[in-house]
Amino acid sequence: MKACNTDILILGAGPAGISAAVYAKRGGMDVTVVTNGTSALLKAEKIENYYGFAEPVTGKAILDSGMKNAERLGVHVERTELLSVRMNDTLTDFTAETKNGKIEAKVVILAAGASRITPKIAGLTGLEGHGVSYCAVCDAFFYRNKRTAVIGAGDYALHEASVLLPHADTVTLLTDGEAAPEGAPDGLEVITKKLAAVEGGEKVSGVRFEDGTVLKLDGVFVALGTAGSTSIARTMGILLEGSSIRVDEHMATNIPGVFAAGDCTGGLLQIAKAVHEGAEAGLSAVKYLRRS
Ligand SMILES: Cc1cc2nc3c(=O)[nH]c(=O)nc-3n(C[C@H](O)[C@H](O)[C@H](O)COP(=O)(O)OP(=O)(O)OC[C@H]3O[C@@H](n4cnc5c(N)ncnc54)[C@H](O)[C@@H]3O)c2cc1C
Repeated sequence: MKACNTDILILGAGPAGISAAVYAKRGGMDVTVVTNGTSALLKAEKIENYYGFAEPVTGKAILDSGMKNAERLGVHVERTELLSVRMNDTLTDFTAETKNGKIEAKVVILAAGASRITPKIAGLTGLEGHGVSYCAVCDAFFYRNKRTAVIGAGDYALHEASVLLPHADTVTLLTDGEAAPEGAPDGLEVITKKLAAVEGGEKVSGVRFEDGTVLKLDGVFVALGTAGSTSIARTMGILLEGSSIRVDEHMATNIPGVFAAGDCTGGLLQIAKAVHEGAEAGLSAVKYLRRS
């Protein structure tokens, strides 16, 4: 994919993202959906609490037919991983970075599901906000000339490391037992040993590996798996409630032009709620564009 322009960029092709896409497309907008092919629904073997099916149905079957309908209506689907979204200097539109290139959009709908990867590393959660961060773009500046590490082993972790590299004194990728990723940028050290704990008193002082060795650090950035709605929201300055995105009754976040729907807004984590919120977000995005 070369650079692409769209009216509405939707992150996620689960029930929330596809429902938003269908309403926005039928509202006359150009719509692009980005998906990396995962969804909570893929784990659901038998669904019998959603309207319209006489017999239990698999989550995959619902996802597949939702996608077919969206594509039939003319929704453009990019099958790639989204790495980041930022607001442009004009404050009127957005640039998303994906593994396949950039997408420019006038409106963004976040529907990337719930953040499911919580690192189970001793000491980590107690030091959140005290040297443990989930957002390199937000916090890199505070680690100028300091020793930092990124926990993760995928493209998202490499992206976060590359944000830190120009600021920090050292950046180390801690893969916690995973193989070192390909394409590590210059200046990034990679340690593949298993982690035992994040250490520190009032602030992070380092990490301890299972072999007993210690790496002294001032900051630890968590970037496991892929960039989810919550981590993208954090980088954009979108308000959260716990790990859920805060939205109003029209699914608008606190940032004009950014909406959210589905599991990422918390509450009932079910298809019916994701579909309802997606519809609302799609319609709100259309209204927003007609006004601007
Ligand atoms: C085991 C299990 C059983 C379930 N059973 C039921 C049930 O019986 N009934 C029911 O109503 N609900 C059930 N659910 C819940 C249901 O699956 C979710 O509520 C629903 O899928 C939420 O939809 P969503 O669109 O918000 O997120 P998801 O369906 O999780 O979709 C997230 C989308 O975001 C995309 N994405 C995320 N990050 C990125 C990225 N960085 N780049 C590109 N794409 C990205 C994914 O590819 C995906 O398309 C079940 C869930 C599980 C785990």
